[in-house]
Amino acid sequence: MTVKPHLRLKFYEKERQLFGKAYSLYTSDHNAEIIVKKLLRHFAPKLPQKRWMEIRFYGNGGARAFMGWTWGIRFPHNPDFGTICHEVAHLVNYEKYGKFRHDKRLLRTIKQLLDYCEKKSFWHLGTTAIQIEEILGDETS
Ligand SMILES: [Zn+2]
Repeated sequence: MTVKPHLRLKFYEKERQLFGKAYSLYTSDHNAEIIVKKLLRHFAPKLPQKRWMEIRFYGNGGARAFMGWTWGIRFPHNPDFGTICHEVAHLVNYEKYGKFRHDKRLLRTIKQLLDYCEKKSFWHLGTTAIQIEEILGDETS
């Protein structure tokens, strides 16, 4: 999604002010993929099922959510929770409002997703290997 650079910067500053700790808590590609699917199932259950979904991890750069013939998210390896919830929030808001905007509604959705991660103890996936199976079960799809 292309946004005027100064607006994007302002949005990211606000985001880090509000949800700071989420941006320094990282998880593995594998866990991130499971978390993304759980978040989408809960917050965007009607997201097009028939289109091919792509959740990819590469490099250490930026993340991007997209919606078209295919839809999905590209993440850097071992993404942080702030980035995970930001990109999932784009898809959730696209389903709700048909927009990819960086606005207050996106901040609200990010907050909901982060709260859900906290409630479900997904945070621990960033730190404690033993708890991973307890929290996620044997779900791998
Ligand atoms: Zn964004």
